[in-house]
Amino acid sequence: MLRKSFRFLAFYSVLSLTCLAVFIFFHRKTSLGSQTDKERQLSVNMSEPLQNPGTSEVNQTSASGPCPNTPPDLLGPLHVEFETNRTLDEVREQVGSALQLGGRYKPPNCVSKQKVAIIIPFRYRDEHLNHWLYYLHPILMRQQVDYSIYVINQYGHGVFNKAKLMNAGYAEALKEYDYDCFVFSDVDMVPLDDRNLYRCFDSPRHLAVGVDKFNFTLPYKNIFGGVIALSKEQFLKINGFSNTYWGWGGEDDDISNRVRIRIKSISRPDSLIGRYKMIHHDRDLHNDVNPHNPYKLHETIKTFKRDGLNSLNYTVKDIKRDKLFTFISVDVHVPSGLNLK
Ligand code: UDP
Ligand code: MN
Repeated sequence: MLRKSFRFLAFYSVLSLTCLAVFIFFHRKTSLGSQTDKERQLSVNMSEPLQNPGTSEVNQTSASGPCPNTPPDLLGPLHVEFETNRTLDEVREQVGSALQLGGRYKPPNCVSKQKVAIIIPFRYRDEHLNHWLYYLHPILMRQQVDYSIYVINQYGHGVFNKAKLMNAGYAEALKEYDYDCFVFSDVDMVPLDDRNLYRCFDSPRHLAVGVDKFNFTLPYKNIFGGVIALSKEQFLKINGFSNTYWGWGGEDDDISNRVRIRIKSISRPDSLIGRYKMIHHDRDLHNDVNPHNPYKLHETIKTFKRDGLNSLNYTVKDIKRDKLFTFISVDVHVPSGLNLK
């Protein structure tokens, strides 16, 4: 009998000890949790600029609220020069600290309305790329853009096809992130005013309104090259760029035709704000003027529905991620026996 009641007592003591242990464990966990939340709130409040000092609630919303339509830290006209020799290592040191691998940036204090992929067609232009990165990263950060830089390098030494590289850049970028806006920029074009916003508008945007080499005036009304921005929807609507403009010339007038046919209007910044400086250069190797290209422009209206994103084929040869950009080497399948004469 004694043994039985001893066993009974022992069983209940073990049971109550277990209950006590479980209770203490959960109690500590909950209070630790609330402590972390408080600490988190405190660090948000302290690290964010106090736009509305007083209530912690307002400060918290401003940390993750939408970015203002007009970015607050823009400088306006900028001094741009290409005489300084800039190595990639130096540029990384100078402008790379706020970037994530791949040339990726998100404004820390607000949520951008658009996710922007910046696509640069490229080959043999390392020096230009260094200047471009040096100037553009700080500008894009001040503009509070949620962006990544994609340098789309044409693999091999065959005839250059800038427009096909742009299409490939669009397709590759979309594999990585849900971009809704695409800026296509020549590597040698640097804006002279940071109020020229790298984002998408209701109509396809022509950003490079005044280039120094054309005395800052539009050479002709329908020009739509140098730097342009299209939303995903707008780019899909025109079936992207043509894939068939080999060598220099025509591809920008072809996309201008596509926009005119399918969307009708374009937008541009004010001519003082839309100023650019272009890095001087000679015509590149394997990018001679193609005398056939101007004739193709009469055909855009007949061909654009079957020549573009829906007929795009290329092979990715390599993807490298630098702090300042994502470098994608693409084989654009240069046709054999291509004749530029
Ligand atoms: N491009 C390049 N390597 C080449 C040819 C062209 O990187 O061999 C790219 C580069 O982004 C350049 C753009 O294509 O800015 C347009 O070519 P280019 O500068 O020759 O055109 P233009 O100066 O006549 O506008
Ligand atoms: Mn150029």
